[in-house]
Amino acid sequence: MRKVYLDNNATTRMREEVLEAMLPYYKDIYGNASSIHSFGRPARKAIDEARVHVAGLLGAASPEEIIFTSGGTESDNFAIKGVLRALKAKGDHIITTAIEHHAVLNTCKSLEKEGCKVTYLGVDKYGLIDLEELRRAITDKTVLITIMYANNEMGTIEPVVEIGNIAKEKGVYFHTDAVQAVGKLDLAVKDMHIDLLSMSGHKIYGPKGVGVIYIKRGTKIVPQLLGGHHEMGKRAGTENVAGIVGLGEAARLAKRDMPDEDRIKDLRDYLYKGIASNIEDIHLNGHPEKRLPNTLNVSFTYLEGESIILNLDMEGIAASTGSACTSGTLEPSHVLTAMGLDPVNTQGSVRFSLGRDNTKEDMDYVIGILPPIIKRLRAMSPLYEKGK
Ligand SMILES: *Cc1c(COP(=O)(O)O)cnc(C)c1O
Repeated sequence: MRKVYLDNNATTRMREEVLEAMLPYYKDIYGNASSIHSFGRPARKAIDEARVHVAGLLGAASPEEIIFTSGGTESDNFAIKGVLRALKAKGDHIITTAIEHHAVLNTCKSLEKEGCKVTYLGVDKYGLIDLEELRRAITDKTVLITIMYANNEMGTIEPVVEIGNIAKEKGVYFHTDAVQAVGKLDLAVKDMHIDLLSMSGHKIYGPKGVGVIYIKRGTKIVPQLLGGHHEMGKRAGTENVAGIVGLGEAARLAKRDMPDEDRIKDLRDYLYKGIASNIEDIHLNGHPEKRLPNTLNVSFTYLEGESIILNLDMEGIAASTGSACTSGTLEPSHVLTAMGLDPVNTQGSVRFSLGRDNTKEDMDYVIGILPPIIKRLRAMSPLYEKGK
C-alpha cells in the first residue's frame, strides 16, 4: 500500500544527511563538550558550528544569541517564566493569544495561578489578532507579549513585524513561538524587534528532543535550569552534542533549501483544488493567503475529524485532526473555537501538513481516496441528513 505522510506539523522525518552528521558524536566523539582534552574539544567545536548555522537561519546578529534547549516546549517555558522572573519589579502582566500552542498556554495558566495577570487576545475568523486590541491591552505592568509566528493547526501567520514595532514602542519584550515558521518562512530576527524566539529541531527535519531559544543580546531573563555554566550560563546541563549537531545541520539545509517551500505550496494548493472540486460542504480554515505554505486545514461539515483520520489511515494516509481527543470526550479545537467557527465545522476538521518528501502522486492518491470516504461517512451521519 502507498504510504503518504501529511502530518509534518506534528513532526518531520529526519533527513539522511542530518543522521549522518550526528552519528560520529554518538560513536567516537563522545567527550563532554566542557572537557579540554581531545575527546571534548571537537564536541565543543561542533556545538559552536551548529550555533552559527542556527544564527544564519534565524538571521540573528550573533551566534551568542542562540541557546540550545530540549525543544520548543522548554524554549516557550523558559522565555515566559524567565522574563516574568527577571522583570518582577516592573510588573506581572503577560499578553498572549487564545490560539497559542499548549506549551505557551499552559505556562501562562500556571503563572496565572501564581498571581500573574494574563490577557488572551481573541482572533478573527481567519485566526489573525487585532493590532489595535493588542495596543489597548498593554499597561504599565505589562512585561511580555508572547504571540506565535504561525499557528500549528491552521497555519495562519500573525503580523509579527507590526507586533514587534508595538512592543518596541511600548518598551515591552516580545517573544514569538516560531516553531512552525522556522524553515518555512524567510525571517531575520535582527530586523524585527523580536527579543525572544522558540524553535524546535524535529519540525525542520532534524532530531527530536532538541530546540533553541533565541535571546537578543541584553534581554533580561532568569535561567530556569540551574547547574553548571553551560550555554553561556543561561541553560545548565551537559550538552546534547549529537542532537545539537543534528539541529545545526537541519538548520543549514533548511536555509539552503528554502525555495522548495514554493513547490510544497503548489502541491498543497493542488491538493485543496482536488478536494474542493470533488467534495461539497467543506470549509477552508485559516487565512487564504497569510498561511504557512505547507498547511491545509479543511472542515468537512457535520463529520467528525477522528473518523476521517482513521479511514485515511487504513489507506496509508497520515493526517491529523485540528481537535484533540481527550480521554474519550471529543473536545473541539481551542484554535478553531477561538476563530468562531460554526460548531458543525469545528469537529470535522482535518489538517494536512505537507513536507519535502511529498510528491504530486501523493496528492493524486489522497484526491482519489478521500471523496468516497467522505461520502460513506456522510451517508451514515444523521446530522448531515438533517442539516441538508
Ligand atoms: C511542536 C510545537 C511546539 C513544541 O515543540 P517540541 O519541540 O515538540 O517541544 C511548540 N509550539 C508549536 C507551535 C509547535 O508546533
